[in-house]
Formats: sequence, structure tokens, C-alpha cells
Amino acid sequence: NSALRSASTFSSSAVEAMNPHGVEISKAQRIAQDGFVSAIGNTPLIRMKKLSEETGCEILGKAEFQNPGGSVKDRAALYVVKDAEERGLLRAGGTVVEGTAGNTGIGLAHVCRSKGYKLVIYMPNTQSQGKIDLLRLLGAEVYPVPAVAFENPENYNHQAKRHAEAMDNAVWTNQFDNTANRQAHIETTGPEIWAQTQGKLDAFTCGSGTAGTIAGVTRYLKTASEGRVKCYVADPPGSIVYTYVSSGGKMTERKGSSITEGIGQGRITDNLKPDIDLLDGALMIADEKSIEMVYRCLDEEGLYLGASSCLNVVAAKEVAEKLGPGHTVVTILCDGAYRYAERLFSKKWLESKSLLNAVPDRLRKYIVL
Ligand code: PMP
Repeated sequence: NSALRSASTFSSSAVEAMNPHGVEISKAQRIAQDGFVSAIGNTPLIRMKKLSEETGCEILGKAEFQNPGGSVKDRAALYVVKDAEERGLLRAGGTVVEGTAGNTGIGLAHVCRSKGYKLVIYMPNTQSQGKIDLLRLLGAEVYPVPAVAFENPENYNHQAKRHAEAMDNAVWTNQFDNTANRQAHIETTGPEIWAQTQGKLDAFTCGSGTAGTIAGVTRYLKTASEGRVKCYVADPPGSIVYTYVSSGGKMTERKGSSITEGIGQGRITDNLKPDIDLLDGALMIADEKSIEMVYRCLDEEGLYLGASSCLNVVAAKEVAEKLGPGHTVVTILCDGAYRYAERLFSKKWLESKSLLNAVPDRLRKYIVL
């Protein structure tokens, strides 16, 4: 595609940011003419002041919580729908079907409403009523189904696929293995980061759920910088991505478990496979560190972030420490803490996960639920 082809010759001049359609535009000038979908992307890169001071590096977080649906997944939602339209799989009045319990469903619900499509969501029945209610009020038809492994034909992803196959003018968007997902980040997130830093960044790191973000941004930055920018995947315990990447693809062991929602993976998705060799390494981030960072970001930066964002911030700090002072490290602030508040800021919940001690005494005033 053109965004990738032009990446190595990308000039750092004048471009403040780019919208998802490759149009150079400054945020102040923007009018989202096509409604919700054209308000996706062009998020600010926020300097994490305290962590930058502490490390002597520039630590920058891409404010994906500012997307109109509230998360980084708005970008993937738009691209999988656009891809289905372009391939003729989705026509006016059609139906999008996806297996998701989280941000992708919310992004898709907004994109589908905005474009006049119906949305059907399958999710494991272990998910909270709050998530089901939110998707339903955004207009989705929601099917909570038994939480069984991917190998089982009754797994929510397979049910979503069968639902779409049985209908006319319907598509299963398949965020995990549909590479239109990573394309969103090759064409928008990556170029935005490159333009915002004027190419002056040394490293990028973030976690992986479907791996669309890490794979797409890595692909773009490696191309644009001719391999100079170091890219690291950050992983919570219980996911195979860390083991797989750090063993050079030889091992797929899973150790432990994590409270971070939306990241960690039991397999290497088709979004990650083509670019796994581009990664310079992997970091494993313990829940204690992610939770401490949730409170630090709130206290020090005024940023109200979910746990996956804070895992990313910890990873960025560790990469900065590894590179030494004077470097610029970019990461992703995936979403806000709104959907997780009753957990992250609840004493009872923190205790139940043995994470209360992860919150330093001086920050316990934020445990209010
Ligand atoms: N953080 C959160 C909160 C998410 O919902 C997701 C998506 N599952 C991610 C991070 C990871 O993004 P990706 O799917 O692009 O790897």
C-alpha cells in the first residue's frame, strides 16, 4: 500500500498528523465530515513528565483513549469494516458479526451505527453484565455463550463465524486473524507517531491482544526508519507472546496469569505472524508494576488509564532505562480506566487479587471504591 511504500522516504516536514485516510491535517483544523469514522485517529502524543524526568528520556504515550469510542480499537474496527466493504462482502444494510467482549465491540458498534450496519456480538458468558448492557445500548445484538477454549467449536469466535456464514450480506470481521486490523496501524498509528516525533524516536513498545497495534506500528516504524527504531512487545504473565518472541519462536509456554484486560494471547495471530521477526525483543511486566503505574499516572500525570495502558507505560520506562538517557520512547495509552474503575480502585478487589500492596502508601488515597 501507498502508506508503507512512502514510509522510507517520509519527510518530517510540516505534517502535524494524518487522518485515517492519509490526509495531512492539523488537529485544530479538523472537522469530522463523515461523522464518527472520520473522528478516529489523530490522537495526541502525551509527554509523561515525571517518568521522562526520572529516566532522562522522552517517554511519550499515544492518547488512544481520545478516540471517539474511547480506545485504540476504533482504528481496527473502522479498517475491518472498510475492508469488508471494499471486498464486496458488506453492502448497504448488511450485518457485521464479531467475537469480542471488549473495546473492539464498542468500536464496531459505533462504526456500524454510523454506517448503517447491524452488529451481532458473541462473547464468553463470563463477561460482566455492564459490558453486555453497554453493547446493547449501542445497538448491538449480543449473545453470551459458554466460555470454552478456542479448540472447541462452541467457542464464541467459531459461533460468530457460523452466524455470519448462515446470512446473506453479513461478514465475520475476525479481528484476530484479519490483517486489515494491523493495516489500520500501518496506515494511521505508525505514520502519526512518525510525524509527531518528526522521526526522532528510538524505540516503540506496547502489548498485544490481537497484535494489530504492535505488528502494524512496528512494520511502519521499521520501514520508515530503515530498521533503526527498536520495537519491543510487552506482555503480561500467562501469555505466550513473551516466551515465543524471546525464545526466537521455539517455545510457547504460558506461566502465571494476569488481571490486565485486552492483552495477552494463547497463540500467535495472523496479525503478528508476518512481522514477528521485526521485533527486537519482548518484556514481561508483572501485574504489581502495571497496577502501581495506574496510580502513578493518575497522581503524577492526571491520566486516568486502564491496566493495559499502564503495562505499556511500565514497558516504556524499562526500555528507556535499558537505552539510557537521551532517548525517545513511544508507547500506547490504549483506553481509560472508566470500564475498570470498580476493580482498579476497589480495596476489596485489589485484596482479592493480592495487589493491594502494589499501591504505594502515598497513593492509597485513590482507593475509594
Ligand atoms: N488494551 C486494551 C484495553 C484492549 O482492549 C486491546 C485490544 N484487545 C489491546 C490493549 C490490544 O490491542 P491489539 O488488539 O491491537 O493488540
